[in-house]
Amino acid sequence: MATLRFQALKETLNRKPVEIEEKERRSELFGRNVFSESVMRQFLTKEAYQSVLEANATGKKIDRTIADHISTGMKEWAISKGATHYTHWFQPLTGSTAEKHDAFFETIGDGLAIEKFGGGQLVQQEPDASSFPHGGIRNTFEARGYTAWDPTSPAFIYGTTLCIPSVFVSYTGDALDYKTPLLRALQSVDQSATDVAKYFDKNVSKVQATLGWEQEYFLIDSALAASRPDLQLAGRTLLGHSPAKGQQLDDHYFGSIPSRVLAYMRDLEKECMLLGVPVKTRHNEVAPNQFELAPIFEEANLAVDHNSLLMDVMHKVAERHNFTVLFHEKPFAGINGSGKHNNWSLSTDTGVNLLGPGSTPMKNLQFLTFFINTIKAVNDNEELLRATIASASNDFRLGANEAPPAIISTFIGSQLTQVLDELEKVTDGKLSPQEKTELKLNVVGKIPEILLDNTDRNRTSSFAFTGNKFEFRAVGSTANCAEPMTALNAIVAKQLIDFKKRVDTLIKDKKMKKDDAIFNVLREYIKDSKNIRFEGDGYSDEWEKEAAKRGLSNNRNTPEALKALVSKKTMDMYKELEIMNKVEIEARHEIQLEEYIMKVQIESRILGDIARNHVIPTAIRYQNILIKNVRGLKEIFGNDFKEHSKEQLEIIKEISERIEKINSGITEMIEARKKANKLETAEEKAFAYCNDVKPFFETIRYHCDKLELVIDDEIWTLTKYRELLFTR
Ligand code: ADP
Ligand code: MG
Repeated sequence: MATLRFQALKETLNRKPVEIEEKERRSELFGRNVFSESVMRQFLTKEAYQSVLEANATGKKIDRTIADHISTGMKEWAISKGATHYTHWFQPLTGSTAEKHDAFFETIGDGLAIEKFGGGQLVQQEPDASSFPHGGIRNTFEARGYTAWDPTSPAFIYGTTLCIPSVFVSYTGDALDYKTPLLRALQSVDQSATDVAKYFDKNVSKVQATLGWEQEYFLIDSALAASRPDLQLAGRTLLGHSPAKGQQLDDHYFGSIPSRVLAYMRDLEKECMLLGVPVKTRHNEVAPNQFELAPIFEEANLAVDHNSLLMDVMHKVAERHNFTVLFHEKPFAGINGSGKHNNWSLSTDTGVNLLGPGSTPMKNLQFLTFFINTIKAVNDNEELLRATIASASNDFRLGANEAPPAIISTFIGSQLTQVLDELEKVTDGKLSPQEKTELKLNVVGKIPEILLDNTDRNRTSSFAFTGNKFEFRAVGSTANCAEPMTALNAIVAKQLIDFKKRVDTLIKDKKMKKDDAIFNVLREYIKDSKNIRFEGDGYSDEWEKEAAKRGLSNNRNTPEALKALVSKKTMDMYKELEIMNKVEIEARHEIQLEEYIMKVQIESRILGDIARNHVIPTAIRYQNILIKNVRGLKEIFGNDFKEHSKEQLEIIKEISERIEKINSGITEMIEARKKANKLETAEEKAFAYCNDVKPFFETIRYHCDKLELVIDDEIWTLTKYRELLFTR
């Protein structure tokens, strides 16, 4: 019988691009399945419509009787679009989205039935969700978890289900999901940024954080992916020798998109349009079969929802095209992994991007205020930011000479470096009128609206300023953006609160003018946050040494990195801003450690299995072929046979040696696992998996990959890198 590998390869020979029809313009499709403001106006009473808008703008609670009106309108709209079910759609801490569909259908006796969807069902649900990770927040007697409607993210229809974006909280109100703390952080940064923006413009009454993510991914033929147990179960390859050609020629990046892939992308984009996800950019990435998709940026909560939704839709659309999507940060050794850059900024309800330089000195002082405060926030909380992007899978990518290192630093470009250097020279205390004029004209006033550095990108920086936004580049491709976005917005919120306090004190106690006070505090911050600024090559060894000298953290693995999540500093900040309490933070820490342990444990088992069930049996089979061959040669050549079977004998020996190494590696790895499992706390276990189990992956893999090179291709059962990466 042909192995799965050869069946799969045969299957791929007949693949054709799926025909995609595009009869309507995308602008016409956009948002068609979204319960948007214009749809609301059509389907809701005026009162109901107003109350949703108000909830959106101010966070005001929606009255229960009004909720009944809203649910009725929503149901009418959904049914008119063919929906039969509804679900509270939420993001538990498993990393994917969760949904439990209920039909609108209800019986009313006498064999009759109606479609029903009440306000209560819209506002709150109690899914039997006891199997979601909760890190001990819900012990059994209060195992209830509630999902509650988040009116700031519009409902949408996917397939035939009305999806209602929701938060997921425990009976006691503790967050069990990604969205709840994010919403709290966004509210916090709104308040503090609005207060600071008022120094420059009294009309500002709301500040929104904006997020534009860039999603990288691999597309692998589904038959080929299914032929690899590691891809199927771990989403990455645990072994496989590099092909002769990888990404050396740089011929894939921005290259012409293969036609099967293009069909997939067009299909996906159509779905995104219907769902109101404003996808805009698509291109080939650096590694073979690696691609990227990016939307137009949106308000951060909505952008996070859209990214989670997109990842789900990508899997579903891929089925139609016989592709498997890999979101793993490092699915293949030796070629680039995938990230999810988070482009972030703050924008006012007066239409100003607070991280965009302006046309006047005053606008630029506002820009510098937010710019420098962000750098200061990152400087003071770099270790927390690192913690929010920690995962078993992102560990393979950070610091792998293709992705930002595990060290967080900011790149701002030469122009802005110069500006900050000048500002730093400002005299302490009040400025003389000449000094101020000089400063405003020649330093602040000279920042051009469009920065040259916009094009001069530093791709090795983990947190780079790119002209009118910061780009957090170290986020992993599997990540839910909510976690890094919660932390980033929180630390900036906290920073802006401190800034305002300092400035107000100088104004009050030192009788300084407002701009004097601002200049003074900014100058302090520039001095205090120099460590985090780095303009050089973030991939270099020199930077690692330099960063260590500066006292920046370099937490290379997840258990180490996660410590910052539960530090006193983090706890205090989250508590002060009312974003997360101690219980919520500790639960998250526990859940992430558990997830790390599980991931490494699962990979370790898979590796043991495929090495013992695929690699070793194939190696023995090939060795037997060689042995038979040598025996035959002996028959023909008698005692001279050795001379004629040198190569064969070498390989026979090599196979035996490698089998021995693989076998003993697996045995020792299993022992290390057993020991780790006996440890008391999740943290101890996670460290044991990291330091004592994971190192075996490399040695086992090394010998398996060497065997792949010598064994007859005809009998090798595992689909090779060449086939996975170059089938299109
Ligand atoms: P790149 O060269 O990195 O592709 P782009 O300008 O195309 O740069 O931006 C990449 C991402 O950044 C896109 O998703 C875009 O919408 C987003 N972006 C642009 N401006 C902002 C902003 N003010 N806030 C948040 N994201 C933004
Ligand atoms: Mg970018």
